[in-house]
Amino acid sequence: MAEIVVSDLRKEFGAFTAVQGSSFTVRDGEFFMLLGPSGCGKTTTLRMIAGLELPTSGTIAIDGEDVSQRPARQRDIAFVFQMFALYPHMNVRRNIAYPLVSQGMSRSDVAARVAEVAGVLRIEGVLDSPVGGLSGGDRQRVALARAIVRRPKAFMMDEPLGALDSEFREEMAEELRALHDRIGATTVYVTHDQLEAMQMGDKIVVMNHGVIEQFGAPQDIYDHPATLFVADFIGSPPMNLLRFEGAVAPGDAVARLGGASVALPALRQGARGALALGARPEHVRLGDDGPLRGRIEATEYLGTTQIVTVETGFGRLRARLPAAAQATPGEHVGVGFVAETLSLFDAETGRALR
Ligand code: ATP
Repeated sequence: MAEIVVSDLRKEFGAFTAVQGSSFTVRDGEFFMLLGPSGCGKTTTLRMIAGLELPTSGTIAIDGEDVSQRPARQRDIAFVFQMFALYPHMNVRRNIAYPLVSQGMSRSDVAARVAEVAGVLRIEGVLDSPVGGLSGGDRQRVALARAIVRRPKAFMMDEPLGALDSEFREEMAEELRALHDRIGATTVYVTHDQLEAMQMGDKIVVMNHGVIEQFGAPQDIYDHPATLFVADFIGSPPMNLLRFEGAVAPGDAVARLGGASVALPALRQGARGALALGARPEHVRLGDDGPLRGRIEATEYLGTTQIVTVETGFGRLRARLPAAAQATPGEHVGVGFVAETLSLFDAETGRALR
């Protein structure tokens, strides 16, 4: 079992604060994603959990024990960098066995463990091959085998698929998730790719400028972004944000954009001033009527769907429609929404109103 509890974790490099007080819990067996743009502090967070970097303040507890000041080797965590880091002068079997041999494990135990992980990763056929001749996929599997063979409490993975082209990346992502489901070890995984995070993660932490913007299950983050940053970062195309000046009171279930009334889920919080209405492209309806009017600017055909760009008086939005739907650039259309899916944000604080 390995539950990781991160409390108020902070990292300063000189005058620069890379991580500004993060708190989250990674439950035992979870596949946990740290997601955010380049430089937001993901890698620094991961390195602190692994013990490769010491926090400026805050704590990390693994299975209830505070390990914040312990060196990496006393944390029993495997850190998977780029998966290609294999020892080139050793064959596959010796690459995988190396962490166990260097611990002084007996030859028969090493052989049994290597056979076991080779089976899990389906690389029995290449055990005696030199690593130089392996395919990209097999190299990834061997590197993973070397990480899991010593049965660490948890895995830290920093953009492990970053070097792969997109098609192969998707295949390896699926394999990695399947491997996780088989061995069930707690995994913390860093990525800047929101699709990868949504596809693979049980839970996602979204970071920006060293701050956690949101923490939750993928669907929850997609459906209910907590901030404008998350609304814009997750989804492709991202959530449409229509900006307007107005006021909403607790209990309201409508946003007034100029003279138009757009139905929303009822709000518990009110706000006034700069607001933004958030609508996922698949929740925009174009037709003869609708509370807003717009003009179709462009259409982008994607096979089964199309993305239609519409200029409204409150900014441009994109609608995802069936490929067969009629949409012609220049056409004037009514713009409506699926009310229960909409979000409303206070544009000054950037926070969603709930
Ligand atoms: P990337 O995907 O680009 O690696 P990241 O989200 O993982 O981004 P970090 O690598 O954690 O970001 O870096 C966060 C910030 O801290 C960056 O601005 C980086 O330049 C800075 N930083 C990281 N390590 C150090 C260091 N040892 N000394 C000074 N600044 C650092």
